[in-house]
Amino acid sequence: MPAEFGIVYPLWDYAADEGRFLERLVGEVPIDQVTVPVISGAWTAFRPVVGGDFPFFHTDGGWHYRPSSRPYGGGAIRPRKARWFSAGDQLAQLCTRPASLGVRLIARIDLRAVRSVIEDQPHVAQRTAWGQETPDSGACICNPDVREALRAVCEDLARYSPAGYELVNWAPDHDAGAAARDFAWDPDLARLMSTCFCAACRQVAGRAEIDVDQVARSVRVSIERRLESPPGTAALEADAAISAYRAARAADCAAWLRRLAEAEPERRRLLLRDLGSPPLESCAPWTHRVRLGRAPLAPRWSAALAAARECGGVSMPAWLPAVDGPDDLVRWVHESVQAGVSLIDFEGVTEAPATCLTWLRQAVRFARRG
Ligand SMILES: [Zn+2]
Repeated sequence: MPAEFGIVYPLWDYAADEGRFLERLVGEVPIDQVTVPVISGAWTAFRPVVGGDFPFFHTDGGWHYRPSSRPYGGGAIRPRKARWFSAGDQLAQLCTRPASLGVRLIARIDLRAVRSVIEDQPHVAQRTAWGQETPDSGACICNPDVREALRAVCEDLARYSPAGYELVNWAPDHDAGAAARDFAWDPDLARLMSTCFCAACRQVAGRAEIDVDQVARSVRVSIERRLESPPGTAALEADAAISAYRAARAADCAAWLRRLAEAEPERRRLLLRDLGSPPLESCAPWTHRVRLGRAPLAPRWSAALAAARECGGVSMPAWLPAVDGPDDLVRWVHESVQAGVSLIDFEGVTEAPATCLTWLRQAVRFARRG
């Protein structure tokens, strides 16, 4: 199957120039899809080409379109429209364009990154093995209110008829604030610290006849033991009870996602996770993609390519500082396609100088020649 290509394209960039940059890009770079963040956390960008006289942009996050109230009526979590736009509905306007541009539109949903979700409903926060809330980790996806909110989002978005949905970091125990933690230096420690023991997780594991209190004790003891280990010490041996606790909740989340997809079988389903985050198990029709982030890619390339090959899709940066120049981008895109990666999105294109389009054109055309 030939590889497909796309870009990540925020609605505030569409609003800034009414889609002129997108039209130019589609004319120069042969892409198949446009991935639009429709719900996100806080976001700050500097976009020299798209922004014109107003290149700096900031949003506190939220719903970047006009949510209707009806789909959310049965749940605890209410949609919060982002404040960067007051009039119009850019998503509705943009939706009329992709068909004429010959591309499809994928709606990227990062519900867990929306701060107001936890501020409005603190009970959906993840909890540590000590029972304490960690509000900056993001909502727990085992929580029924969080799942109902995602179901409502999909119902709400159906009126825009996107070609598909892409869910960001939708896996149990994902810690949205991990990079800022004191224990981020040790993957074992970070993983243990982020293992969630909220009421919903406890209930799911309890149904699988797991002794949750005993697992929580094991996590606390393992954390203390790990804190006494110098950096670089061999990884902890897997604790069978902790592994079973993780597996039970991952299986429950995967089963729920499969049921969610039954409502609109015609739409594509993508699960995007950050490089280094543990993947959810296979849950077709959902397919996996890994996001590489903006840090320099050269020292991380072999790990990035291995992860991209394993899940078959990648969302990669297209400019400095991740990519040093067009030769790197051409080579990495080519290697990804050769390794069997079938879907490649480019991130940060609207935040780069116009030369980025030349890099992209070279990389995509070379990869398409195969
Ligand atoms: Zn939980």
